[in-house]
Amino acid sequence: MQATHHQIVVIGAGTAGITVAARLLRENKKLDVAIIDPADKHYYQPAWTLVGGGTFKYKSTERDMKGLIPGGAKWIQDFVDEIDPDTNRIVTRESGEITYDYLVACPGIQIDLDGIEA
Ligand SMILES: Cc1cc2nc3c(=O)[nH]c(=O)nc-3n(C[C@H](O)[C@H](O)[C@H](O)COP(=O)(O)OP(=O)(O)OC[C@H]3O[C@@H](n4cnc5c(N)ncnc54)[C@H](O)[C@@H]3O)c2cc1C
Repeated sequence: MQATHHQIVVIGAGTAGITVAARLLRENKKLDVAIIDPADKHYYQPAWTLVGGGTFKYKSTERDMKGLIPGGAKWIQDFVDEIDPDTNRIVTRESGEITYDYLVACPGIQIDLDGIEA
């Protein structure tokens, strides 16, 4: 059965979330670190500039997420819908509630080009 409490919960397994989790576990491999991210794939976004310039293939910016989760961290493939910092609790779409001692929020940004007034 999946644990519903983790010492450290990281939301998002992009560059930020993976880096934070890896550095924490490098300091202390006994830490209980869970990373929550629904995505199967991780994208190396800086190379997208080169994709736009026609010198790099989009497919080459893609990696399987499972190969990038740091050893010792638990990947929960799910989407966080709610954060309640008063009770150290998050609510996920599939796995329900998960509590934490420390939360690191790295969900990235959502680009909304339609929000720019013409
Ligand atoms: C075209 C382009 C060029 C760039 N060039 C450079 C550069 O030259 N140098 C540089 O330093 N940076 C560059 N950047 C910026 C850099 O790529 C980003 O700053 C970096 O990827 C952001 O990492 P992140 O972890 O914050 O977000 P992301 O990599 O976007 O990851 C966020 C993760 O959070 C997950 N997530 C989102 N919402 C939830 C949720 N509710 N629950 C669970 N998971 C969730 C997503 O699935 C995703 O995997 C560039 C970016 C772009 C787009």
